[in-house]
Amino acid sequence: MKARWYRLFRELFSKNIWVRMWEPLSFHTTIRIGGRAALFIFPSNVGSFKEALTVLKTADVSYRKLGAGSNTIAPDEDMETAVISLSGFTGLSTSGGNLVAEAGVPLFKVLNLCIEEGLSGLEFLSGIPGSVGGAVRMNAGAFERSVADVLEDVRVLDEDTGEIFTLRAEEAGFGYRKSIFFEKDWTVLSARFKLVNADSEAVRREVVNHLKKRLATQPLELPSAGSVFKRPVKDFYVGKAVEALGLKGYRIGDAAISEKHAGFIVNLGRATYGDVVSLVRLVKMKVRESYGVDLETEVEFWGERP
Ligand SMILES: Cc1cc2nc3c(=O)[nH]c(=O)nc-3n(C[C@H](O)[C@H](O)[C@H](O)COP(=O)(O)OP(=O)(O)OC[C@H]3O[C@@H](n4cnc5c(N)ncnc54)[C@H](O)[C@@H]3O)c2cc1C
Repeated sequence: MKARWYRLFRELFSKNIWVRMWEPLSFHTTIRIGGRAALFIFPSNVGSFKEALTVLKTADVSYRKLGAGSNTIAPDEDMETAVISLSGFTGLSTSGGNLVAEAGVPLFKVLNLCIEEGLSGLEFLSGIPGSVGGAVRMNAGAFERSVADVLEDVRVLDEDTGEIFTLRAEEAGFGYRKSIFFEKDWTVLSARFKLVNADSEAVRREVVNHLKKRLATQPLELPSAGSVFKRPVKDFYVGKAVEALGLKGYRIGDAAISEKHAGFIVNLGRATYGDVVSLVRLVKMKVRESYGVDLETEVEFWGERP
């Protein structure tokens, strides 16, 4: 089995595709949990991404994609799969009020450019530690706004056919933490946002205000994957509901319900995937018992689902 991974490693490497063997996924997820991936691949452009896909498909190896790993938790056991990081897709530019960012660009970099160039519209993303690709797939949002509100279109790679095409925002099936990218084997290569010209200082102020609000209300000082659960209905705030059940600070192993925001599960040091899954199951059960509400996770679990 190990020989197979080594052969694929050599094949990818010889094609000038950056790849590592047995890479700890805990290094690549913000909750700092996860065993190793047999192959961890960093394509730096569409050509090498497509080449890597061909190698994996020919060898019948399954793969997963990863952006900034801020909405993902990987199992403790080693994964006999490939993980493709989009972090090498780093292009970022503006033109005529539009901003185009490749999938791997961290959202804070997008916001820095918005401040520099006086472009308004994306300030609500301030403090979300994701990448552009992850934010599009998740339709990331805050303060009653989400990516769908400002997205013009997306460059997409169909992983099955190799075709590259442009998808308009209205065609992307956006909903609350929902998009067409959940249903298709499609990769977001880049996204184009329609923004408005504004005073640079006003954009900066707004970005900083959002950051301050997050610092006051979220456990940013500890590893986490953000809000664990989706809001089941508009006015049901999971954090408040969990807090009312007296679960703030409740701990299984080193995974704990945050003292600061009960919608977050934090890693106090050596939390395992199993600790988080057990805690999620407990919260789901208590919320169902007390409120008659079924919670769905927003965080993506790459192992056994809670
Ligand atoms: C402290 C904290 C605060 C947060 N606050 C918010 C918030 O306010 N609002 C919010 O919406 N989210 C929030 N999040 C969650 C998370 O940051 C967002 O969901 C973010 O958009 C995920 O981006 P990512 O690049 O980290 O995705 P990842 O975790 O890397 O990936 C998430 C999913 O997207 C897929 N994916 C990644 N890149 C691509 C691509 N290029 N093409 C297709 N699929 C891809 C992956 O396969 C995976 O299934 C928070 C997280 C943290 C840790």
